[in-house]
Amino acid sequence: MANSKFEYVKNFEQPDKLLPNTWIVVRIDGRGFTKFSTKYTFSKPNDIRALDLMNAAAKAVVTELPEITIAYGVSDEYSFVFHKTCSLFERRSSKIVSTIVSTFTAYYIHYWSTYFPDTPLSPPLPSFDGRAVCYPSVQNLRDYMSWRQADCHINNLYNTTFWALIQQGGIDALEAEKMLKGTLAADKNEILWSKFNINYNNEPAIYKKGSVVFRDYELVQPGTHNTAAEVDQQAEQVQQSKNQAEKDKKSRAKAQVVIEHLDIIKDEFWDQRPWLLS
Ligand code: ATP
Ligand code: ATP
Ligand code: MG
Ligand code: MG
Ligand code: MG
Ligand code: MG
Ligand code: MG
Repeated sequence: MANSKFEYVKNFEQPDKLLPNTWIVVRIDGRGFTKFSTKYTFSKPNDIRALDLMNAAAKAVVTELPEITIAYGVSDEYSFVFHKTCSLFERRSSKIVSTIVSTFTAYYIHYWSTYFPDTPLSPPLPSFDGRAVCYPSVQNLRDYMSWRQADCHINNLYNTTFWALIQQGGIDALEAEKMLKGTLAADKNEILWSKFNINYNNEPAIYKKGSVVFRDYELVQPGTHNTAAEVDQQAEQVQQSKNQAEKDKKSRAKAQVVIEHLDIIKDEFWDQRPWLLS
C-alpha cells in the first residue's frame, strides 16, 4: 500500500528507541492479582502452584528470546534483562515490552491447566503490564536486581509473620497488622520462632529468594570449565570477531535455561557466572 494519500499518518508515530549500550530491564506485573489470587484461592502467603506457573511462563519467554540474559521473578512480577548490546527490534521500547508481555501472558494461560488442573480459567483472564528501563552500568543493573530481591525478602518475612498470626495465631488481619506495625526484621523472626516455632531460615528458598532464570552454559559444555579471566578474554574476542559472535549466539540459543532460587545480591552468584554480565 505504498504512497496512498493516507500514508502521512505514519508520521504521527513517536520514536521510542531505548538508549544504546545500556542494559534493558523489562518488568512485567500481574494486573489486579490481589483480586485474582482471591478468585483462584491462592494459598497465603505463598501459593507454590502460582509461583511455578510464573516460572514456567518466564522460562518459556527466556527460551524464545535468546537476547535475554537473565530474569528474576517474585510474586506476580518478573524482570527480564537484555544484554546492553541487544539490537532486538532496533531497541524500540514498545515493540520489546509488548512482545515480552504478550509472550508471557500467552504462556501463563497456556500452562494454567498444568498447575491448576482443577480450576479452569474464566474471564476476566489474567493480564500483565510492562515497562522498560535502561541501566547504564553493571553496578546499576546489579543494584536493580538487588532491589527486587531485597523487596522479596522484606515482603516475604512480613507476609510469613502476618499469615502465621492469622492462620495459626487465630487473630484477625487488622490485629495482625497492628501487631507488626513498626517491627524490625529481628522482631518478626522472634515472633515466628517464639509463637509458632517457625525458623524463618528454614522456609523454602523459592519464597525467601524468589526465582532466577538464566542460561547455564556449563551444563551445555561439560568439562570445558573456564576461569573468570578466560571468559573475560573470550568476551573480548567475541566483540572482535563476527564469526565468534555468530557462534556465541548459537550456543546461547542451545544452552539450557535453568530456574534457581539463589542470592543475587552478593557477588558470588555473578562471579561464578561471568558470561551473564560480560
Ligand atoms: P496491580 O495491578 O497494581 O499490580 P495487584 O493487586 O496485582 O495490583 P501487586 O502489588 O502486584 O498488586 O500485588 C500482587 C498480589 O498478588 C499480592 O496481593 C500477592 O499477595 C498476590 N500474589 C501474587 N502471587 C502470589 C502467590 N504465588 N501466592 C499468593 N499470593 C500471590
Ligand atoms: P513482524 O514480526 O515484523 O510483524 P510479520 O511476518 O508478522 O513480521 P507483518 O507485516 O505483520 O509481518 O505481516 C503479517 C503477515 O501475516 C502477512 O504476511 C500476512 O499475509 C499474514 N497474515 C496475517 N493475517 C492473515 C490472515 N488472516 N490470512 C492470511 N494471512 C495473514
Ligand atoms: Mg503494579
Ligand atoms: Mg500486580
Ligand atoms: Mg506485584
Ligand atoms: Mg506482524
Ligand atoms: Mg502486521
